[in-house]
Amino acid sequence: IRIAIAVSKRGAQMLRGGADKPRTSPYSFQGLGEEGLVMLAKAREKTGRPFGTEVVDTETGAVVAQYTDMLQNGTRNRQNFALLKEVGKIGKPVLMKRGMSATLNETLMSAEYLMVNGCRNVVVCERGVRTFSSHARNTLDISIIPAWKQVCHLPIIVDPSHSSGRHYSVIPHALAGLGAGTDGIIVDVHDRPEEALCDGPQALHPEEFSKLMEISKGICNSMGKTIGTDKTV
Ligand code: PEP
Ligand code: MN
Repeated sequence: IRIAIAVSKRGAQMLRGGADKPRTSPYSFQGLGEEGLVMLAKAREKTGRPFGTEVVDTETGAVVAQYTDMLQNGTRNRQNFALLKEVGKIGKPVLMKRGMSATLNETLMSAEYLMVNGCRNVVVCERGVRTFSSHARNTLDISIIPAWKQVCHLPIIVDPSHSSGRHYSVIPHALAGLGAGTDGIIVDVHDRPEEALCDGPQALHPEEFSKLMEISKGICNSMGKTIGTDKTV
């Protein structure tokens, strides 16, 4: 809630937090489940900002949907068509992350699974793809943005936190995304990243988030775009 207020004051338009976490290792922190959803709802109440969170399986979709404004479909579930169908049927907006090895067409077809099942508002997210490189968590594929815009009207946003995995690369990745024409940025922020239970190394400090917002506004203005609204807590 503290971090939600910090980013909201600095111009974040929406919040995202993970109540259920899809972790590579079963020994890693798995999230707080419904307790986490209650916290996210409180963060919304305090800031007036809507939030999104991930649905990790078909069993929990209905509970998550009771709380959240937007449902997230994670990269590891891009090919889980049963889940895409269930999430689509809920009818709430969906943030669908590109699979870590998915082509543009496969990404498009996953979005179609959501839409034919009833979801009318899909936002796609480029979060880096799997390559041979080891200097970053993933390889940010900004080349998908202009290509996506040739074939699809759905908004596409960039996740520079999961693409870089390293806090010093987050702002450069975000700016590359803006330059390529992204419709938005989803970024991890933490005021005590060393205490984060997940993804601390890729979190921006709130002051760095302010810097990102400031530079982004300049870039967007020069491209004739505006960032969200002026609403703040
Ligand atoms: C996340 O957004 O926290 C997440 C797990 O992302 P991805 O599915 O892109 O790995
Ligand atoms: Mn994460």
